[in-house]
Amino acid sequence: MQSLIEQVQAALGGNVGLALGYFLVAVLSCQLGLMAWSTLTRLRHEHQQQKLDRERLALLVRAAKYRYQEAQEVVQGWNGYRKFTVAQKSLECEDVYSFYLVPHDRKSLPPFKPGQYLTFNLEVPGRDKPVVRCYSLSDSPTRSDCYRVTIKREPAPADKPGVPPGVASGFFADHVKEGDLLNVKAPTGHFYLDLSKNTPICLLAGGVGLTPMLSMAKAVAESGSRREVWLFFGCRSSAEHMLREDLDALRRHDNIRVFVCYSRPGKASVRGEDYDHEGRVTVELLKEKLPSNNYEFFMCGNGAFMKTLNDGLEAWGVPEKDIHYEAFGPATVKKKTTPAVAATTTGPACKVVFAKSGKEVEWSPTQANLLDFALEQGLRIESGCRAGSCGVCSVAIKSGSVDYVKTPDAAPEGGSCLTCICRPKGDLVLDA
Ligand SMILES: Cc1cc2nc3c(=O)[nH]c(=O)nc-3n(C[C@H](O)[C@H](O)[C@H](O)COP(=O)(O)OP(=O)(O)OC[C@H]3O[C@@H](n4cnc5c(N)ncnc54)[C@H](O)[C@@H]3O)c2cc1C
Repeated sequence: MQSLIEQVQAALGGNVGLALGYFLVAVLSCQLGLMAWSTLTRLRHEHQQQKLDRERLALLVRAAKYRYQEAQEVVQGWNGYRKFTVAQKSLECEDVYSFYLVPHDRKSLPPFKPGQYLTFNLEVPGRDKPVVRCYSLSDSPTRSDCYRVTIKREPAPADKPGVPPGVASGFFADHVKEGDLLNVKAPTGHFYLDLSKNTPICLLAGGVGLTPMLSMAKAVAESGSRREVWLFFGCRSSAEHMLREDLDALRRHDNIRVFVCYSRPGKASVRGEDYDHEGRVTVELLKEKLPSNNYEFFMCGNGAFMKTLNDGLEAWGVPEKDIHYEAFGPATVKKKTTPAVAATTTGPACKVVFAKSGKEVEWSPTQANLLDFALEQGLRIESGCRAGSCGVCSVAIKSGSVDYVKTPDAAPEGGSCLTCICRPKGDLVLDA
């Protein structure tokens, strides 16, 4: 070792201090270099990490926006028409079919309120214009995979056998098949059961008017609520006993009572098995079965069914606010004495002119709306939802103005009115 130092001393001319100095400077430089390199590496790494974090954040924001948009769509439905595929078509009973509809875009389905309906825009062969019709959702809103509607073929009225049968209902029965695509508007309607309440309810259904009632009863059953429900369903016989499995399943809930009433049971049907009561759904039957009149009543059926029950319930002392009803269309709606009309019998007596048909008629404040009024005069105005939603009954106003019984869901075109929910303000001339 000694000799090595001596040799280095000899080589450096004995200047050991200088050599050590160079050595230390070299070591220090290396260390500084290493530190600078590691700092640069760390900075580069941190920069990359920040870039990745920013990208991740942007992705998260995009995903959150997408989820928010999806949630909005789920909550609010959709605008205009959306394509649905008919996943299943089942015969429920004579001339009544259920259609199970899944969205063609496979995105989620917004929930609906039991009692609400869908609006369809149908391309019916032989028709130059689309046919718009509404059909109530007949299944529980807890079902999230598909919507179900149940549609009865509408024959020509008994007193007018010569007129053509129902267009849309016939199209559904004869033409619409599994795999077909249909244009459908989001669920809507003001006739629905408030599931946040727990008041006892009595559901009165005549014929295909069962659809919204069944949705309400199933909604209560599937929510696990103990709410007291009575469901009275009237039809002629087993041939018209639709949605039987659903009705039977409801009987398993001890808070839900189901009464199926056949007006003409026939020999083959067994009371206690096929049906519960022989006769129509009447207020006398309700008085016999219900412990009191202290219920919220919901009804849907043809005009005669609803008028008789409405009058009977009022006579029994049921307050108007506790009677709710849905009319399925011009052939079935009952005017003048229905609760909605009672609430709107104000306004001036005036003159309504239907310019195209050359009719001039006195408007009486007891009329419900211009659509029903026109139909009573024998005019044929197309209609869909009868609730100011689909716009089909829109007619141009040539002079005068109208009042709306309820706010239209979508504003009518300028200079037009939605006849199903409006009444004249004074003398009126319509382009119909
Ligand atoms: C909110 C709502 C919910 C509904 N839910 C359901 C449901 O769940 N299930 C269901 O089955 N229905 C439901 N409807 C009824 C449905 O919308 C249709 O009104 C029904 O299917 C009849 O339509 P259509 O096109 O078959 O008959 P349309 O073609 O509108 O004909 C109706 C009637 O008029 C007759 N007619 C045709 N031409 C004339 C003429 N020149 N003069 C006189 N009469 C004539 C037809 O023979 C038929 O009897 C609902 C209606 C509304 C408003």
